[in-house]
Amino acid sequence: MTELALFGGPKTIARPFAKYNSIGREEAEAAKAVVESGMLSGFYGSWDSKFYGGEKVQQFEQNWAAFFGVGHAVTVNSATSGLIAAVGAIGVEPGDEVIVSPWTMSATATAIVVWNAIPVFADIEDQTFNLDPSSIDRNITLRTRAIVVTDIFGHAADMDAIMAIARKHNLKVIEDCAQAPAARYRGRYAGTIADIGVYSLNYHKHIHTGEGGVCVTDDAALAERMQLIRNHAEAVVGDKGVEDISNMIGFNLRMTEIEAAIGIEQLKKLRMLTDARIDQAARLDAGLSGLRGLRTPVVKKDCSHVYYVYPLVYDDEQTGVSREQVVKALRAEGVPASMGYLNLHLLPMYQKRIAHGRGGFPWSAPFYKGVVSYAKGICPVAEELQDRRYIGMSMCLYDYTEQDIDLIVSAFRKVWSNLDRLKQAA
Ligand SMILES: *Cc1c(COP(=O)(O)O)cnc(C)c1O
Repeated sequence: MTELALFGGPKTIARPFAKYNSIGREEAEAAKAVVESGMLSGFYGSWDSKFYGGEKVQQFEQNWAAFFGVGHAVTVNSATSGLIAAVGAIGVEPGDEVIVSPWTMSATATAIVVWNAIPVFADIEDQTFNLDPSSIDRNITLRTRAIVVTDIFGHAADMDAIMAIARKHNLKVIEDCAQAPAARYRGRYAGTIADIGVYSLNYHKHIHTGEGGVCVTDDAALAERMQLIRNHAEAVVGDKGVEDISNMIGFNLRMTEIEAAIGIEQLKKLRMLTDARIDQAARLDAGLSGLRGLRTPVVKKDCSHVYYVYPLVYDDEQTGVSREQVVKALRAEGVPASMGYLNLHLLPMYQKRIAHGRGGFPWSAPFYKGVVSYAKGICPVAEELQDRRYIGMSMCLYDYTEQDIDLIVSAFRKVWSNLDRLKQAA
């Protein structure tokens, strides 16, 4: 048996993988044309024909809405901005509770805190790492106003069940599908099922514009409120004659013409790029099947997974070797394996309840009448995955060839055939 690289043996993957790069000649030419026009942004921050942005921004929004089959697309300068605009648009009030997943990027929950509302972390499903509808149900109180669902790693949450809960309790739903563009859920695209879906176009995502994001909705009034929050709402509502001025606190969340021009080209490549990740994942699934204590990703019936991350679940009780040891051995072989997310409720902001200023605001504010816990233990499934069981591999970091995938599989198989060796070393 070949010695593990961890103990000085030969490394299975001795050469670097090619970097993932979704940008090509088309994007370069589109960006160049905008730069040469001199008009790098078409927005004015007043109630004017330019309030909705320039030609490329509006074209990109039309194309995005057509691709995803939704009524309205509103571009923004990041998904974080999009989440902030979305939470404001649905009419969250200070002190409202908003249910959110602990297993997501921090911005998903921060967008709630920005509006002085209270994130309530519900637990996730072990299979898709997305919010568990039964845990959402258990966390609903009289103060619950909305749910922010994340389609983590590229697989949609259980949206039918979540929308049913939302209807029953009169809650709005926002879907953070930053990692799941073009993922399918029962005949529709992830992100188009909730009241608002938010996509990311940051540099690390399947397709990108450097920085950027897009919000989608079928509700014209929500689209309008997001457009206002995007572009200095408070300065515009008077001239525009907006009646409901709650949360019409404006920002500058606008996308430039350069990003929009690049985005138009990137959208044309989205399906090709997600299909490639799906093929790579299928090859990994086949190669990794049957390894003791290792579960390859679950794809639910009538859904597709677009694999922003290829998530594995590991059971140390079946192998007798800790996840840390296995990941260390895999990394030594050259596998870009990671141990994933810190559960959000464990971040200092929630543990210390320090967000706006020093005084515990918004949790300590008189307008918050509830009791929320961020103690370790509130999300046992998410915490167990974080602490012991999750192993992930980013699929939008490198552009894996079939040979690369086969090398990754060989590295896993080598580590698995040396589990006894790892056990002795521990
Ligand atoms: C990337 C990401 C975001 C934030 O996207 P930005 O465009 O960088 O603001 C939000 N949520 C999730 C799940 C993400 O992966």
